[in-house]
Amino acid sequence: MRVEIITVGNEILSGDILNTNTKYISEKLMEIGIQAHYHTTVGDIKESIIEATMFGLQRSDILIYTGGLGPTQDDLTKEAVCEVLDIDLELREDIVVLIEKIFEKKHITIPKSNLKQAFIPKGGEALPNAFGTAPGVFINYNNKLVFLLPGPPKEMKPMFNDTIVPILKNKLNYVIISKTIKTIGIGESSLEEKINDIIKNNKDLFIATYAGDGLVDIKITCQKQNKLEANERINIVLEKLDKLIGKCIYSHDGESIEKVVFKLLAKHKLRIGFCESCTGGLISSRLTKISGVSAVFDRGIVTYSNDAKIEELNVSETTLMKFGAVSKETAEEMAKGLLIREKVDIAVSVTGIAGPDGGTKDKPVGLVYIALASEDYLCALKFDFSGSRESIQNRVSNAAFNLVRKFLIEKNNLK
Ligand code: ATP
Repeated sequence: MRVEIITVGNEILSGDILNTNTKYISEKLMEIGIQAHYHTTVGDIKESIIEATMFGLQRSDILIYTGGLGPTQDDLTKEAVCEVLDIDLELREDIVVLIEKIFEKKHITIPKSNLKQAFIPKGGEALPNAFGTAPGVFINYNNKLVFLLPGPPKEMKPMFNDTIVPILKNKLNYVIISKTIKTIGIGESSLEEKINDIIKNNKDLFIATYAGDGLVDIKITCQKQNKLEANERINIVLEKLDKLIGKCIYSHDGESIEKVVFKLLAKHKLRIGFCESCTGGLISSRLTKISGVSAVFDRGIVTYSNDAKIEELNVSETTLMKFGAVSKETAEEMAKGLLIREKVDIAVSVTGIAGPDGGTKDKPVGLVYIALASEDYLCALKFDFSGSRESIQNRVSNAAFNLVRKFLIEKNNLK
């Protein structure tokens, strides 16, 4: 079954908006076991939509359009598609009533231009739109399925899920299940080398790695007759991965590392605080994106300058002079200072050189120390990160979360 997604809109071609509709629909299709064959984007030009439709009908079984169903002159998707399919548009009184009701609620009489949206291709089905005035359209054209959806994602998404997904699911005689394992502390190429045998010996599964800022995801995808069979097959591979690289796996179900840390802190009823230098609050910010975090998060302090480290964390001037701000000793004193001052259960500090300037021969860009202090434990780890300033900051924050994760899982076995 060949599916083609056709997005319509000048703003997409000009780069003014990101084509998130294609990404969203593709991902949702994958969830039900369909990989899109083609992504096409055209502007709000009738000839372009006609051309895309003619191509689409030749090479695909299912065409899913988004955009160009609005009330204005440049909304031409329905008209162009109907021209290719040689179908007339007819005014549907029931849709007029629906659109009138939407305007009545806003105490506005229906603008004439909006009546355009009540025209539906003859023999086609109008798809309800709970968040806008433009209904979608479904046409079965000689067994080619054609779906037209509005462009705004908040309208498109529920319509796609509620109406198109069930129709497509009905046509499938298999399921595709995917699972994402998340790892840290191992590079992508070393990881691939390690799991190469598993990949080779499980050719009926699609196993791929995706790397970013110190994290590597392993996505396992399996196509089978039913869910049970697919899950069983994936679980066998999961067990093998656990045996081989279990120490590097921080999540088996796609959770972010900060979420994993949040859950561990909550489980152990511990409160954490961060004092950040080169990450400027990124670690605290990532943690506070999680709802319910107040149960485990006390505070985050950005102590960028030496003065801030002395005043806020009681780091000694001698330490700063003797070892420098980016040193194991300073990182440790920062974490201890926060622990003592704020009475948190765990204090984590980071100090480093995020670059691109400021590195020296002895202390190059990417040199970072992360320390963790608790009532009866203190450690500081040294890292040599590479990449852009943003990438180094992301890597530092990932490593800091990983340090906390490891501390909570196996307190005395930190590497
Ligand atoms: P409207 O009733 O708003 O005119 P429409 O069906 O005509 O809806 P468009 O005019 O193509 O849709 O797009 C309206 C808005 O929807 C765009 O300005 C943009 O914000 C968003 N949009 C459209 N297409 C996409 C896309 N592919 N990805 C993300 N957003 C999109």
